[in-house]
Amino acid sequence: MKKAKSLFSVLFCILMLLSCMVPAFAEDADPTTCEHEWQWVVDKEATCTEAGSRHEECTQCHAKQNENTPIEMTAHQPKSVAAKEPTCGEAGNIACYQCKTCGQYFSNEACTQELSEANYVVAKLDHETLAHTAAVKATCDSDGNVEYWYCAVCGNYYSDAQGTAKITVNETIEPALGHNYVKTDETAESCVKEGTITYTCSHDPNHTYTESIPTIAHADNDGDGNCDKCGMGMNRNNKTGIAGFFAKIGMFFRNLFWFFNELLK
Ligand SMILES: [Zn+2]
Ligand SMILES: [Zn+2]
Ligand SMILES: [Zn+2]
Ligand SMILES: [Zn+2]
Ligand SMILES: [Zn+2]
Repeated sequence: MKKAKSLFSVLFCILMLLSCMVPAFAEDADPTTCEHEWQWVVDKEATCTEAGSRHEECTQCHAKQNENTPIEMTAHQPKSVAAKEPTCGEAGNIACYQCKTCGQYFSNEACTQELSEANYVVAKLDHETLAHTAAVKATCDSDGNVEYWYCAVCGNYYSDAQGTAKITVNETIEPALGHNYVKTDETAESCVKEGTITYTCSHDPNHTYTESIPTIAHADNDGDGNCDKCGMGMNRNNKTGIAGFFAKIGMFFRNLFWFFNELLK
């Protein structure tokens, strides 16, 4: 008997525990007899542009009341927008405030005075009559330029007359070419004449200069007393006395003849 009683109380305890652990299985209370416990439920959150709505709901029987009760709009979150001057290509704006949440523009920080786009945008400027500069070819010594157009309103350079293809001021310049000298003529040096090398600029044939090559020394390698190349008498010192004297007289006349001969060449 005592055993049966204790078994019953154990079973009872388990049942109580189970009913506590799974309250979700509990039936809704009867709305007609329920002592309602009201709780606000949000149907739609309010934003800075639109009011929200909410209603009350009983936590016990889920009955509803005060449906579609409005929730006041939240405040705008203003950030200040600096004034921007318009340029030829780009619109500017006046100094104002913009809500970080909804993007609306306002003239005051309290966000009570809305600005339409027409109110805060300052229209972009138009290029004034573009100044045209014709192309100038670069030379060896001076820069040239490409054909370009300039707008004095925005200070920009363009490669087209409509002012749509923007270029930098550096892109208008064609840098000077510099000389490019190449050897164009050459005469060989000898024992009687200097040689020459003539250089001419490949960009402009008027740019030219000539280098001279010094004469080479007369040479008598075969020992006949005359230069092997030009025939000038050069050495009569191997004879002495009267023979040497006449040899030197002979060399004098030989070289006189040689000299006039060279002049006529
Ligand atoms: Zn209720
Ligand atoms: Zn807003
Ligand atoms: Zn412009
Ligand atoms: Zn040159
Ligand atoms: Zn010679």
